[in-house]
Amino acid sequence: ARRVPVPALPPGSWLGMLGGGQLGRMFCMAAQSLGYRVCVLDPADDSPAGSVADRHLKAGYLDETALDELGRLCGAVTTEFENVPAQALDFLAQRCVVSPAGPSVAVAQDRIVEKGFVRECGIETAPYAPIRSAGDLRAADPKLFPGILKAARLGYDGKGQATVASVDEAVAAFESFGSVPCVLEKRLALELEVSVIVARGFDGKAVAYPVSENVHVGGILATSTVPARVSQDVAARAEAATRKIAQALDYVGVLCVEFFVLADGALLVNEMAPRPHNSGHYTIDACVTSQFEQQARAMAGLPLGSTRQHQHAVMLNLLGDCWVAAGGEPPWAEVLAFPEAKLHLYGKTEARAGRKMGHVTVVADSLAHAVHVAGQVARVVG
Ligand code: ADP
Ligand code: MG
Repeated sequence: ARRVPVPALPPGSWLGMLGGGQLGRMFCMAAQSLGYRVCVLDPADDSPAGSVADRHLKAGYLDETALDELGRLCGAVTTEFENVPAQALDFLAQRCVVSPAGPSVAVAQDRIVEKGFVRECGIETAPYAPIRSAGDLRAADPKLFPGILKAARLGYDGKGQATVASVDEAVAAFESFGSVPCVLEKRLALELEVSVIVARGFDGKAVAYPVSENVHVGGILATSTVPARVSQDVAARAEAATRKIAQALDYVGVLCVEFFVLADGALLVNEMAPRPHNSGHYTIDACVTSQFEQQARAMAGLPLGSTRQHQHAVMLNLLGDCWVAAGGEPPWAEVLAFPEAKLHLYGKTEARAGRKMGHVTVVADSLAHAVHVAGQVARVVG
């Protein structure tokens, strides 16, 4: 039986966060704004979340002394990255509320399990085959080529993936990944990529945010435009599929599902994230309740807030590449000279290419204006 926060954990209580990255940081800020105190468990010295938390337990995710302390201090604990070891969540669940629960996180941790789960829900994915050996590649349906070989576990931002034109290329990629379990997915011509974020409470009530239209460059999210420029039918099907997955998982917390939209209107689930998502950062500036505030509300057993979007929005990710191009700090005063631009920096000291350093959300009364200003901001940050 799972632990439930009854009565709800009121503001002033401690909430726990496993992980110290930018998602944890934005969670801390939202929870603190509601009056909570946040304890972050993360091994790094100067992590984005650790530096704003009320308390930072500097320890590994499997350090039982630290997990025990976190579980005793906090009424509820959540996570900001899906690769948190399942044992850590199980250990914590003996001591406090954990949301999302270990089994929900486990589904999203493994592409083979994840795709199987989505299909069991009656929702389509790209054509794929689970790959556990080079023999599985040789036996795979030739229609899966050209394909993408993706390591089943621990991939993010396009890491652990290889585009493969033939069986021989796929075997070479499989061996270069260390022969770990993978999925071979057909490479599709994508019309668009979209995502839906839902928040679901312990009572099973779920709320959904508007559909976000996402552009990836090199496997990393570059921009999110909201609301997505898709038909009402596509938007409704994406929301329904996301709600169905959340319900099937008996999920509690914030869940993001990423989709591919094909030219014929087909909607395929790409993957899910058991946490707030980069494509939902716009909710901080453009919605009544941010995805991070929803995460705090859900885990504390409080009613969920309104997901209503009050401004059109375009979010631009700021990768370390902007620092490299500027030869130092990008010209922030020029960014802030756009009155529609909301700047968020994550407090990371070292800018590396491909590293998520911050984001800008452009908010406006029309989507056309938000898109226009976002283009100007993009030119400023290079
Ligand atoms: P990650 O976990 O790194 O985000 P994804 O599976 O979401 O991995 O892949 C990253 C990006 O690569 C996707 O957002 C999409 O742009 C592209 N991509 C992934 N799979 C396919 C596919 N089967 N066909 C075409 N593009 C794909
Ligand atoms: Mg992805």
